[in-house]
Amino acid sequence: MLRSHFSKEVSENDYGKKIRIAGWIEDIRNLGGIAFIILRDRMGRAQITIIKRMNPELFKEIVSLPRESVISAYGLCQKNEKVMNGWELLLEDMEILSKASTPLPMGVIDKVNVDFDTRLDNRFIDLRREETKAIFMIRHSFIKHASDFLRKRGFIEVHTPKITASSSEGGTEVFKLDYFGKDAYLVQSPQLYKQILMATGFDRVYEIAWYFRAEEHDTSRHLNESTAIDIEMAFISNEEDVMKIAEEMTNYTIQKILDENSKELEILNVDIDLPSLPYPRIKYDEVVEILQREIDFKWGDDLGTDEENLLAKHLEYELYFITKFPLETKPFYAMPNGKYARAFDLEYKGMEIASGAQRIHDYEMLVNRMESLGMNVKNFEDYLKAFKYGMPPHGGFGYGIERFLMRFLNLKNIRECILFPRDRKRIRP
Ligand code: ATP
Ligand code: MG
Repeated sequence: MLRSHFSKEVSENDYGKKIRIAGWIEDIRNLGGIAFIILRDRMGRAQITIIKRMNPELFKEIVSLPRESVISAYGLCQKNEKVMNGWELLLEDMEILSKASTPLPMGVIDKVNVDFDTRLDNRFIDLRREETKAIFMIRHSFIKHASDFLRKRGFIEVHTPKITASSSEGGTEVFKLDYFGKDAYLVQSPQLYKQILMATGFDRVYEIAWYFRAEEHDTSRHLNESTAIDIEMAFISNEEDVMKIAEEMTNYTIQKILDENSKELEILNVDIDLPSLPYPRIKYDEVVEILQREIDFKWGDDLGTDEENLLAKHLEYELYFITKFPLETKPFYAMPNGKYARAFDLEYKGMEIASGAQRIHDYEMLVNRMESLGMNVKNFEDYLKAFKYGMPPHGGFGYGIERFLMRFLNLKNIRECILFPRDRKRIRP
């Protein structure tokens, strides 16, 4: 290997021994007779020191390297309390693995504000920056711990198709494509497939899923390609069983991130406490009452960004459910309960991060509901078939990964939370 240690792996046991470290040259300080090089790897940084008269050739070679070049450096690991990490590498030999071109399209350590588009255009460099990397290390943790939690609760990980013959949620916000001469669509969510799986006996499934939505609007909370944690569970009594999983999964992951990602949270200046369980539940009707005190809002209207923000101002907690929505605000598959749906949204600091519901499991009821909404039932044959031969009561949720991260880390733009965002204007890199 081109390295024996990561920067942060070196311990007192290595002092006085020869080691090899590798990474990107972040900075070079050439004082004439001596030079200090800061080398960055995925765990942190280390100092390489070289004295000119000991090896003039190597000295000349390293100080003339452009920043962000990649090297593997070999030498004596020497204790030095004045240096970061408490040690430095006295350079004896070096392999130049990749010489960086100049000028860099953007800086890595410069504090100068780089505009977001430049960062996204050069995402591979942007990801070398501590703050950006920290977001994705926390994303990595969030997905791991959510997965662990769900597996512990008996959920089986599945992967359902992303190309489909009918659009999943109805509506027009689908990307249409040509499938060998036939029309096909990218799925808006795994909704229909995870429901079909409830007829199999798997009982509990989850998917770390891609959503493709041709939403025309350009907002700081919508992507045209986003990821979610989708779950579906059978034999539930009602939507409360699903909400319990949503809140417990959230608290479990927050606790794990607090335990394991303190370094990243510090870099991102995030200081939070674990919310207490259960999260407050606020009925849609109560929301209407609160909103009507300040704005013109009709019962039956959907909650938009402004309404969600206004509501959040009136509440002293950050994570809460809105429950008992009017049936007409929710998709066809939500279980009716009089004029309400057995549906909920999970809100985080005034933004929806997840939506869920108990679903209709009765074939006749489902068909009637679709017809009453003017849907073409024939387009949903494959889905509906699964309800005819034994379908238990079930429910689930779709939980936006970027939405959670955006709120958890207090980021202003959802694009910060996905590697290569897709929006109306951006389909590259
Ligand atoms: P919104 O009303 O906020 O646009 P939605 O109600 O259309 O969202 P759902 O169909 O309920 O979204 O999807 C479940 C979850 O997936 C949402 O709560 C959200 O966290 C996430 N999500 C949905 N659409 C997007 C998107 N375009 N970009 C990012 N996340 C999304
Ligand atoms: Mg929703």
